[in-house]
Amino acid sequence: MSHLLTLNAGSSSIKYALFERQAMAVAPVLTGQVEGIATATGPASHADALGTVMRVIGAARVTAVGHRIVHGGTGFDHPVLVDDGVLAQIEALGPLAPLHQPHNAAGVRAARTAFPGVPQVACFDTAFHRAMPTLNQRFALPRALHEAGVRRYGFHGLSYESIAAQLAGLGVPDEARVVVAHLGNGASMCAMRGGRSVATTMSFSPLDGLPMGTRCGRLDAAVVLHLLDQGRSSAEIARLLYRESGLLGLSGLSSDMRTLLASDSADAVMAVDYFIEHLARELAGMAAALRGIDLLVFTGGIGENSAVVRERVAQAAAWMGLRLSEGASTGATGVLSSTDSAVQVRVLRTDEEAVIARHTARLT
Ligand code: ADP
Repeated sequence: MSHLLTLNAGSSSIKYALFERQAMAVAPVLTGQVEGIATATGPASHADALGTVMRVIGAARVTAVGHRIVHGGTGFDHPVLVDDGVLAQIEALGPLAPLHQPHNAAGVRAARTAFPGVPQVACFDTAFHRAMPTLNQRFALPRALHEAGVRRYGFHGLSYESIAAQLAGLGVPDEARVVVAHLGNGASMCAMRGGRSVATTMSFSPLDGLPMGTRCGRLDAAVVLHLLDQGRSSAEIARLLYRESGLLGLSGLSSDMRTLLASDSADAVMAVDYFIEHLARELAGMAAALRGIDLLVFTGGIGENSAVVRERVAQAAAWMGLRLSEGASTGATGVLSSTDSAVQVRVLRTDEEAVIARHTARLT
């Protein structure tokens, strides 16, 4: 029997999943995470962390490895087999995603060493959004910058692909105007039609759009200029915007939605209010990009688990005729909306690892 391994290598952790390769499908076997890379108590490097993964998976015969790669630039609009040239291109995209891409690449290098001769597949989080109309990939900046790569790329593409595949399986028609809200520590929305991305809230980086656990979301660029003029370094500003803002920055308490919902501190309440307010606004923006909305899908840790957040978003979007049914429970099809709602609402569990595993199986 042969197996596929998927890896999602971050700055301090590697998330992994093992799948059994079957004739027409892939079946999940186990998932896990090695944390604390390059900390006092954790593994020294991604290579050492992969050693831990290999001990956990034991005798499994791994015949292919699939990697989540955050940035595929303008070139990669689908998953590819990794060779030296592809790895060099992935590393060259590092400046576009400095907090993620170098670690993704380190994961690929470690896996090539750990599994010599085993094919590696790169799956890009930006690839799903290469289908967006050019208009929705532009900033209102001079063309030369667009051509130099300063454009709206969009992220969470593997999650959106997972949801698009589930919707096709549920018989949602191609012409349906769908907005997917991926709400986890990172959060974004995607407007899609016929399983393709039309617009999305993250843009040049995973900072844009919705407020997130520790990221600011949409921000006036002049704030960054102001902080630079005050003498803050770009590294300090990056730390502020990526790690100290969002729900954590607003609440001064936590980046974790469960903690905030359980707190009665005024700033925790305000952080949740801000999250809901901007969800409602970005939802309207995504619906506008589709010129209407037929289906709203919630996914990600908050989207899948927090009935409170879903209900509050639904209240804020009642003006578009969106209604949840009383005591809405998810059921197999995940439908939460009432029968008289103008917009169907569903909750679906995203499965990025399964998307990577399917691509890896197909390409190897
Ligand atoms: P990541 O983006 O790191 O993959 P997840 O998708 O796991 O993150 O989402 C993590 C977020 O989901 C956290 O803010 C956590 O509080 C939130 N969450 C998980 N379960 C619940 C719940 N029952 N109610 C509210 N929030 C929840």
